[in-house]
Amino acid sequence: MPLTNVQARDVEALLHPYTPLHRLAETGPLVLDHGKGVCVYDTQGREYIEGMSGLWCAGLGFGDEELIEAAKEQLSRLPYYHLFGGKGMEPAIELAEKLKEIAPMPVSKVFYTSSGSEANDTQVKLAWYYNNARGKPQKKKIISRIKAYHGVTLMTASLTGLPANHRDFDLPLAGVLHTDCPQHYRFAEPGESEAEFVARITASLEALIAREGADTIAAFIAEPVMGAGGVIVPPAGYYERVQEILAANDILFIDDEVINGFGRTGNWWGCQTMGFTPDTLSCAKQLTAAYAPLGAVLIPDAVYDAFVEQSRKIGTFGHGFTYGGHPLGCAIGVKAIDIYQKRDIVGRVRALAPQFAARLARLDDHPLVGNTRAKGLVGGVELVADKATRRAFDPGKGVGAACARACEAHGLILRALGDTIAICPPMIIAAEELDALFDRLERALDDTEALVV
Ligand code: PLP
Repeated sequence: MPLTNVQARDVEALLHPYTPLHRLAETGPLVLDHGKGVCVYDTQGREYIEGMSGLWCAGLGFGDEELIEAAKEQLSRLPYYHLFGGKGMEPAIELAEKLKEIAPMPVSKVFYTSSGSEANDTQVKLAWYYNNARGKPQKKKIISRIKAYHGVTLMTASLTGLPANHRDFDLPLAGVLHTDCPQHYRFAEPGESEAEFVARITASLEALIAREGADTIAAFIAEPVMGAGGVIVPPAGYYERVQEILAANDILFIDDEVINGFGRTGNWWGCQTMGFTPDTLSCAKQLTAAYAPLGAVLIPDAVYDAFVEQSRKIGTFGHGFTYGGHPLGCAIGVKAIDIYQKRDIVGRVRALAPQFAARLARLDDHPLVGNTRAKGLVGGVELVADKATRRAFDPGKGVGAACARACEAHGLILRALGDTIAICPPMIIAAEELDALFDRLERALDDTEALVV
């Protein structure tokens, strides 16, 4: 199909993130115009169920009048201010108070960023600064996991455990260690039970710490349910053991709640669903339901106290972003949390989770589907060349991407993470809309099967 005028202008002017650039002129971008509820509409007026909440972020859907009003009100009152040099403003204060109230662990202070990457990048700087402050200058390495996703800055792309984020970007940086991915389906030995798998990969984490020396390792970072690596739900007992190992070695547990946070997994926080208590926490995305960019780092007492000592010694706390704590994002964040609470979004997610899990499990019978997994309202469908042996498709075949395109043809936006199709609908989705989402996905899987056989 020839490109429309707006598609041609897009291809001419934009560098698209995470896009096969060599094919874009031929496939054409999908240019969206507006959204309402769980749907978005392209420039031709076609409707799509937004089955990914954009990028796991628009958890309250599109066109929410309360969020729009909160934004308008803040823009007319004070469209910008910052927190540098001891300045403050009400929305930043109120949001920090709310975050402290709902946090899954005791929090001393909230530090704002504009994105999830900046939040995790800040976590690393804070861990280094903290260990310098407490006289442990060697304790600096960060452990992450294969298939993790923590962002795209130099350090967070290094922490990310996906080849496309490293290759030819000259990453990862030194001081980043990747340990096992806790995905039983892909990484278990033949015949290995989940419990045996957990015992093996946590022993491997312990061995890594012993080999490198605990006195050289500052922190371990993890998404409770792993998102962009393919929606991976670690087996029972995994985090319990990881937490014990970290505590025994004086290693900070950084919880990356950028996708998991604010109800997505059926609790306020993914760590509550997965059964661990972190030392520090990063959040973003659903923090503002994606109506404005904002990230936050939740900092415990011990770490904050060390920063105060550093400030005494150095003269200031030398870190901060121009838009960290932007009043627009903070005002929207306050309203988003208010909505999550008064509309009982956690309760909604829990009520819809059985239907979500059942419709996902139905896909297990499809010839292309090797494995499905879900927690709350986030799920993954892994497509394979051979169900019995779990053999993956040749990545060059682009089967996942073909399936995502087939979804679009059926009026559904999902995201292909390699050959895993991710599903993360707005948490306001109605039961009938959830059924419509899966009906469309089933049709798209049939179309994809017809293409690959
Ligand atoms: N951490 C996780 C778990 C993410 O999924 C993402 C983005 O998808 C990030 C961090 C990075 O966030 P951002 O894209 O806002 O920089």
